[in-house]
Amino acid sequence: MRWSERQVVMLREMGVRLWEPQPDPFGADDLTPRPPAGREAGAAVMAAAVPVTANATSVVLGAVTSMGWDELREAVVGCTACGLCKGRRQAVFGVGNQRADWMIVGEAPGEQEDIQGEPFVGKSGQLLDNMLRAIGLGRADLPGDDAEAAAARQVYIANTIKCRPPGNRNPEPDELARCEPFLVRQLQLVQPKIIVAMGRFAVQSLLRSSEPIGRLRGRVHQYQGVPLIVTYHPAYLLRNPEEKAKAWDDLCLARATAAAGAAA
Ligand code: URA
Repeated sequence: MRWSERQVVMLREMGVRLWEPQPDPFGADDLTPRPPAGREAGAAVMAAAVPVTANATSVVLGAVTSMGWDELREAVVGCTACGLCKGRRQAVFGVGNQRADWMIVGEAPGEQEDIQGEPFVGKSGQLLDNMLRAIGLGRADLPGDDAEAAAARQVYIANTIKCRPPGNRNPEPDELARCEPFLVRQLQLVQPKIIVAMGRFAVQSLLRSSEPIGRLRGRVHQYQGVPLIVTYHPAYLLRNPEEKAKAWDDLCLARATAAAGAAA
């Protein structure tokens, strides 16, 4: 999209930063949906792969690819790129160690997250915290940890969608597409050694696959060269506790994969 001089002046007046394409180490420097790769190539491309139309909003979202943490948080907090901004109390950015070895990607804020402004603080969050604790991880920093120990023990948690969908409905494809640059940038900034994608929408967004979780879990996928483990969403596990053993296996696979990466 080329802007006329008049449009450029107007956008600057509005405080909209214009995006100049920049080389990106993750190769994710545009808003074009990536094609499915590897084993997911045969799977249906997620419905969320909706191109974001070029307007002032997409200019702001385009700028996301070069933002640092503070700017990114501000952009998320003030985002009006989709209708979810109308019903939210607040956008929910992310929590944890910004250089964590582990990044956990969930779906969208629920009621408690919308109130408290932190991902996974409701019932699903309690289960997630218990699951993480079981493998020696957590969201809080531990006193006495140096930077390396903190990165190893303290995860970073972010959602695919930053604003609560009304009544906790599923996110719409357009909402997923518009929010995606924020998650992509969080991943670029954290540079995790392992990603755990929890539930269908995280998987759709990161792997471009709409295969059921049950078919994707149990093996190591890749997101931009980073190993990615698929597992059930904690809310699903609360409804189907008999599946918790599989989620435990998934976390063990993630731990083994992270350890193998660290030893290599
Ligand atoms: N479920 C999610 O996926 N994320 C949250 O933050 C809360 C519930």
